[in-house]
Amino acid sequence: MTDFLHTPISFLKGVGPKRAELLQKELSIFTFGDLLEYFPFRYVDRSTYNTVSELNTLEGFAQLRGYIISMHETEIGKRKRLTAKFQDQTGQIELVWFQGIKYIKPLLKANVEYQVYGKAKFFGSSFNIPHPELVEMSQVDAEVGLKGVYRSTEKLSMNGLHSKGIEKLVSALAMQVKGCFQEPFPTYLLDELNLLNRELAIKQVHCPQNEELMKRAVFRLKFEELFFLQMELLLRKQIAMQKNRGFIFPEVGPHFTDFYENHLPFELTGAQKRVVKEIRMDFKKGFHMNRLLQGDVGSGKTLVALLTMLLATGNGFQCALMAPTEILAQQHFETISDLVKGLDIRVEKLTGSVRKSKRKILHEDLESGKINMLIGTHALIEPTVVFQNLGLVVIDEQHRFGVAQRAKLWAKNTTPPHILVMTATPIPRTLAMTAYGDLDVSVIDELPPGRKAITTRHHFEKDRLLIFGFIQKEIDKGRQVYVVFPLIKESETLDYHNLMEGYESISRVFPMPKYQISIVHGQLKPEVKEFEMKRFVNGETQIMVATTVIEVGVNVPNASIMIVESAERFGLSQLHQLRGRVGRGAEQSYCILMTGNKLSKESKRRLATMVETQDGFQIAEVDLELRGPGDLMGTQQSGILDLKIADLATDGRLVALSREKARGILEKDPNLDSPENAGIRKKAVMLLQDKPNWSKIS
Ligand code: ADP
Ligand code: MG
Repeated sequence: MTDFLHTPISFLKGVGPKRAELLQKELSIFTFGDLLEYFPFRYVDRSTYNTVSELNTLEGFAQLRGYIISMHETEIGKRKRLTAKFQDQTGQIELVWFQGIKYIKPLLKANVEYQVYGKAKFFGSSFNIPHPELVEMSQVDAEVGLKGVYRSTEKLSMNGLHSKGIEKLVSALAMQVKGCFQEPFPTYLLDELNLLNRELAIKQVHCPQNEELMKRAVFRLKFEELFFLQMELLLRKQIAMQKNRGFIFPEVGPHFTDFYENHLPFELTGAQKRVVKEIRMDFKKGFHMNRLLQGDVGSGKTLVALLTMLLATGNGFQCALMAPTEILAQQHFETISDLVKGLDIRVEKLTGSVRKSKRKILHEDLESGKINMLIGTHALIEPTVVFQNLGLVVIDEQHRFGVAQRAKLWAKNTTPPHILVMTATPIPRTLAMTAYGDLDVSVIDELPPGRKAITTRHHFEKDRLLIFGFIQKEIDKGRQVYVVFPLIKESETLDYHNLMEGYESISRVFPMPKYQISIVHGQLKPEVKEFEMKRFVNGETQIMVATTVIEVGVNVPNASIMIVESAERFGLSQLHQLRGRVGRGAEQSYCILMTGNKLSKESKRRLATMVETQDGFQIAEVDLELRGPGDLMGTQQSGILDLKIADLATDGRLVALSREKARGILEKDPNLDSPENAGIRKKAVMLLQDKPNWSKIS
């Protein structure tokens, strides 16, 4: 009966050639099976309605019924906008479209009652509903009960396949399903988690009989999706470990011990100790280490990197530390050379700017093993750089190193060096478990003691004078100040205007020659930018007015105030990174978030989060919730996160559960040989064959 699932979608009643083509193109639905796995993204009880009058207090989505009483189209620059006034018995609200106007317009009729579904948002000076779902009341099922809502596209909607149309097709199909789904899960697992079987779950997810069954169906399908994702990741890791034997560093070795006992500049934090232990365990096993080290800015990753490298050198291996920019490589080189001064090891630096003559000596000494530790940029993975026995590579800031660059490292040895990737961008646990599920993850979740918390406040325009007064006091104490303006490509000219206006008003309040101001933005020549930056770094200017292009790696410990203008336009992680530029010295530091008076709910949440916490992981969790996983990870990895029904932002608990179950099964039955796990095995084998290896590192 599995043929049923492979039946081309064009054979389905109600799907002609045109619709079949659209379903394929727009949603990648080719077969009955594909359609059955096209799940609703939420449910509505179509029998209950909200009123316009309650919208001002209503959170989330609302369903209304009423009439369209007028509409008009406006054009601002290239942006078109269609606005329709919608009215029910309690009041009026605007429905707004920015896209697909030409398709939507003919659908809007006077004197026809509509059902409207959407999310009311504060926009300009009033609430409106952008891009609502719109169905004529006469088309709405009289039937009471839960209905799935499906994502559609403009083209599909034009051909009658809006959410409702898709719902009709798929629920009809779901009713025909009988005995065509194989159950991959063993009975013991179904029982333990009280899971619906696959067939029942598929039926109930599309045509729920009641809320309880709908919830169980959704749970079962989400669990299944996440379980196989985790199973695949764990198997890939298992295979990689069997295949890729790693160097064994049997001892702690003399370098580590000497450093730890005699040269450690401060007591390690508990988190640093834990991470070093985790790494030490990896080195003893004979597996190839592939570890991601996460730690917020200032959490002390460099010291962990150094201790890790000393384990390698003490066991007779060379190691390398790779940074994304010259400045950072230089900084690491200085810090580390200084720390290991008393030890008998040789540390060298290799970047693009190292002269040819010097480079030649470096190459020779690397190849003969005279250099123990090499610090540099990607220059150190060029083919001409040959090591005698490279045992470990530490990569700082993984976001900037492509997979291809990392692959070059493998070419350097027959046995691949151990790899430790460090990142300062906190990634929420559930996301890390998925996007990096085939890596081991270590977390430094504790800052060194004695850090002063940065005081963060949110202010409106009316407090401007107060803020200027505060800045003046700090500058008079000898401090320096950043003032950052947003820069978003779409409205570059507008932003530039705001920046210059801000600069002028600051210049008026803080006049020369008493005060000096630097300005840095994307339209300046690089030399000018660097010159302005240097003046600020050297303390020649007190105020740095800039867009977000302020250079990476600049460290100005004397800067104690970060003012973010139009802070409502920044994302959370950006705000967190900006704030990280102050609080580097001994002084109490401040982050001031300036905003306009009208704020969306999401902006309010972002600002409140910033004021509330300085914990990068907590901030990342909120960010994930607000933006979704795809946005957070960048497009590079979003393919991994393309889930059919689970949602990494909200299903964190399920991710953990599915990983725990998958791991438990593999612990007892590593190759899935036992007959009861045959279903899991079959599907897992398919998954492993299906996809190219998108492992982050190897
Ligand atoms: P990041 O994780 O951002 O790379 P760094 O390694 O640069 O952080 O460390 C930030 C600062 O904290 C450095 O000045 C470093 O010397 C200091 N530091 C690191 N570990 C400790 C510790 N255990 N106790 C006190 N200070 C520490
Ligand atoms: Mg660092």
